Amino acid sequence: MFCPNCGAKNPADARFCNQCGTHLTESMNDPTEDPDQDSGLESDTLNSTHEDGETEDSAVHCLICKTGSMHPTIHSGTFGFGTRKMLICNNCGAGFEIKGQKYKFSEISDTTQPLWLRYGHQTLTEAEWIRISEGGVSDEEQKKINREAEALKKQEIAKQKEKDANDFLMGLENGSIPINYSGQSPVILKKDELISIIMENINLQEPRAVRQTNAAYGGPTIRVAKGVSFRMGGASARSESYEEIRVIDNGKLVLTNKRLIFIGTKRTVNIDLRKIMAIVPYKDGIESQRENKQKPEYFTGTDKHTINYTINGRSGTVPIYGNVLKAAIQGLISKLQ
Ligand SMILES: [Zn+2]
Ligand SMILES: [Zn+2]
Repeated sequence: MFCPNCGAKNPADARFCNQCGTHLTESMNDPTEDPDQDSGLESDTLNSTHEDGETEDSAVHCLICKTGSMHPTIHSGTFGFGTRKMLICNNCGAGFEIKGQKYKFSEISDTTQPLWLRYGHQTLTEAEWIRISEGGVSDEEQKKINREAEALKKQEIAKQKEKDANDFLMGLENGSIPINYSGQSPVILKKDELISIIMENINLQEPRAVRQTNAAYGGPTIRVAKGVSFRMGGASARSESYEEIRVIDNGKLVLTNKRLIFIGTKRTVNIDLRKIMAIVPYKDGIESQRENKQKPEYFTGTDKHTINYTINGRSGTVPIYGNVLKAAIQGLISKLQ
């Protein structure tokens, strides 16, 4: 559509001329459009008299004070540059600078006006300003509200998952949640023996005392060139003994209602659940201490496996961290008699 004032071409749905700011009236829009569908920037409730002699059609109801009317005005810069096309309210002095399809709320008489405090200097679309004048929020604020709501929802879900995982762990520990493995057994099961968990690629580790040599470099310094020092490779070295947890073997870990069995390539470990004295959980596995054995055994890599659960009507999956495996073993021990 073309502006009746300056003749500039404007988008069909433009309310104001993007060239001179003149209000483009309904009659210039698609005649099939229902005028009742429009909201906000209407010209039909205006005073018919203006001291500056503008036409009724070129002024709109003020969105800020809702009593005055806004008139298109051209603000010239000091040297004629930076001409600003504005809509200014004759009542509250609210001024909207026309910036293409958007409007910058750039001035007002009373700078304590709440909408000014909140939206002063913001450049928003006409739809946003109308929404704001009706008590709504800007697109950016709406996005923020949505983001916050989403974050809250995620937090709720995370909390719920944590609760579910804890409930699952407690259920495992007190034996109220049984875990039953239904595949083929890699070990010969005893009477009434049932498999709970099978995990492949588990490391069996044991502590070993090893001697370590610590070489410390602290030889004499010799000068080799101007300003450059060179430290000789040192002679002092000390030796000490410390405990290292070494990988002994890799294989399958099978937990049944009677035993914890490790089947490696070199070694098989058969632990009667009744003989377990303590289990120390780690993130990636457990340390098991049993009767009549001085050194503990470590089974690591369990966290690469997961276990599915359904609790509180919801399903979830947890990695088999040491504490999960410990809870499962405790639950099975509690059922032994
Ligand atoms: Zn125009
Ligand atoms: Zn106003």
